[in-house]
Amino acid sequence: MIVLDNVNKYYGDYHALVGITERVEKNEVLVVCGPSGSGKSTLIRTLNRLEDIDGGHIAIDGRDIHAKGFDVNALRAGIGFVFQQFNLFPHLTALENCMLAPVQLKRASKAEASEQAMALLDQVGLAHKADAYPDALSGGQQQRVAIARALAMRPSIMLFDEPTSALDPEMVGEVLQVMRSLAKQGMTMVCVTHEMGFARDVADRIWFMAEGKILEKGAPGDFFANPQHPRAIQFLADRN
Ligand code: ATP
Ligand code: MG
Repeated sequence: MIVLDNVNKYYGDYHALVGITERVEKNEVLVVCGPSGSGKSTLIRTLNRLEDIDGGHIAIDGRDIHAKGFDVNALRAGIGFVFQQFNLFPHLTALENCMLAPVQLKRASKAEASEQAMALLDQVGLAHKADAYPDALSGGQQQRVAIARALAMRPSIMLFDEPTSALDPEMVGEVLQVMRSLAKQGMTMVCVTHEMGFARDVADRIWFMAEGKILEKGAPGDFFANPQHPRAIQFLADRN
């Protein structure tokens, strides 16, 4: 469970996150949406300390992750992060990309890591590409490897920041499908995405952000059928 308590973040004078108090339950699939520059990436990046905060607290499973002395590497090992850009290691095959962290962090022997990586590639539909290098894979395939790589650390939470927005349209579906199946398995997921179809079908809850605040939150059925805040109404109208 993730608990945000009056979280504030500044970039210089700019107030990027404004007093955010919220929580994400275990096994919940949360979609965060909102206009460009509203603070979605900033918010999600504070959850694994890619961004510091300037006030408030964030607790994951009861531990204050921004506290002094908190083990950031252990935190990140338990939280998978998938970005817009796939960032696979170009000199490693798909399989090797998925083996690297577990072996380096001594979570598994090479043989165990290889077996697990193969199972994860199979889960994302890419067992047949295990020995391919990233530049021989399509964008959608690379992003699916990136998801498998994140899963290799057996995270309890997966964070996605616009994982499909750099993809050609015909590849979006295959990545969303993998995310959908993760959600079905009960993964706790925080997904920044503009894929409103995914949000409608898969999310348990939606947060709508603008100007560093969560202006509206609710179940997808309510959010899409009956948005309340003018900014949310406008945001949805722009997408129809
Ligand atoms: P997008 O949909 O375009 O990805 P976003 O909702 O993810 O937008 P953020 O990237 O979180 O928005 O940015 C929120 C605000 O903070 C923006 O006004 C942005 O310009 C500003 N910002 C983000 N990162 C930095 C930074 N490193 N330094 C200064 N300002 C920043
Ligand atoms: Mg962003």
